[in-house]
Amino acid sequence: MLTITLKPGKEKSLLRRHPWIFPTAIEHIEGKPEERNRAGATAVVRAASGQFLARAAHSPHSQIRARVWTFSENEAVDHALIKRRVRQAIDYRAAAVRDTDAIRLIFGEADGFPGLVVDWYGGVAGFLVCQFQSAGVEAWKVPLVQALIAETGCRNVYERSDASVREREGMPLVTGVLAGDEPGPEVPVTENGVRYAVDIKNGHKTGFYIDQRDNRALVMAHAAGREVLNCFCYTGGFSLAALKGGASSVVSIDSSGEALAIGKRNVALNGFDGDKAEWWDADVFKTLRTLREQGRQFDLIVLDPPKFASSPAHAERAARAYKDINLLGFQLLRPGGLLFTYSCSGAISADLFQKIVAGAANDARVDARIVKRLSAGADHPMTTAFPEGEYLKGLMLCKP
Ligand code: SAH
Repeated sequence: MLTITLKPGKEKSLLRRHPWIFPTAIEHIEGKPEERNRAGATAVVRAASGQFLARAAHSPHSQIRARVWTFSENEAVDHALIKRRVRQAIDYRAAAVRDTDAIRLIFGEADGFPGLVVDWYGGVAGFLVCQFQSAGVEAWKVPLVQALIAETGCRNVYERSDASVREREGMPLVTGVLAGDEPGPEVPVTENGVRYAVDIKNGHKTGFYIDQRDNRALVMAHAAGREVLNCFCYTGGFSLAALKGGASSVVSIDSSGEALAIGKRNVALNGFDGDKAEWWDADVFKTLRTLREQGRQFDLIVLDPPKFASSPAHAERAARAYKDINLLGFQLLRPGGLLFTYSCSGAISADLFQKIVAGAANDARVDARIVKRLSAGADHPMTTAFPEGEYLKGLMLCKP
């Protein structure tokens, strides 16, 4: 039995139900040495007064030293908890997510599984793809996989625990089959009537940017008759949505040749006119400058770059990069054109992002109108106690 006792005053964030405990908050840890050293062991967390605060997974090598499973003294951390929470996560998505078989089934802390991501592609005959990013969920891997199979009816489970955050937890990077069959190179999914091939084994994250579903639907709804430029297109998520929505042409740019190859195949998979779609293997920063020099203009531009700020320390440099591409975006837009611009950096708040974009509009001498504030879909729930869960933010803007 492991007990973590906090320093006086350090219980405040837990009383607000924030689920992370940092080493600086800990007064002492009691328990047998083998329990204290076991990554993912369940600990009772107490305030300096002795008051029960939570049950948490202890992670001896991580900067997040413990992550809360439950704030309820009556709730045990056991197989039943795992099964119950998996069921709740599935029921929530069944009610909140429509018209897709690419779903984030478990989104870490927001679903009561700190450090766990599970994406579900292709329904019962498809694949569950898991990322175990903390010692707590890693320790419960077997019962978790069993519960996922039992509750979804999908028997194929693949692990993509190759995100670098695992190294910060002191865990090795691993990928491979956890149950059932090995995924083929292109697992098909259908989102809002568009078919996409997902490369589960080698693609980014678990293969597909599920979080942009609602934003792809928005682009689809506004694409008719427009010349579209999709920057950082990956496998063409927004490009395909624009073609489905009747775009007159779509130029898609990415520096990954493999991603572009899938994008091209996605056009064929949907039977769209390949002549309307150009795929450029290039650097976005350079290419946008070239397009500006050439005087090219577009009616709809998507800017969905990778995470420029991996931590708050990188926020300033990231802000310059966001401003740079957004300035170019405004300049390349025709009057009446639409800009869909995003940041998936947790270290850049929605407020700050809007300020950066405002600075870019000002430098471009554009009185841009904010049509809509954008975020990830409902299967990436945000909770009031855990603001860190909000990472994707975006703006839909109109150039008058
Ligand atoms: N919009 C995509 C996801 C974008 S992920 C979707 O909805 O699916 C970010 C992409 O940016 C990656 O595919 C990566 O290969 C690409 N990338 C990163 N830096 C780049 C650069 N400087 N120029 C072009 N592409 C870049």
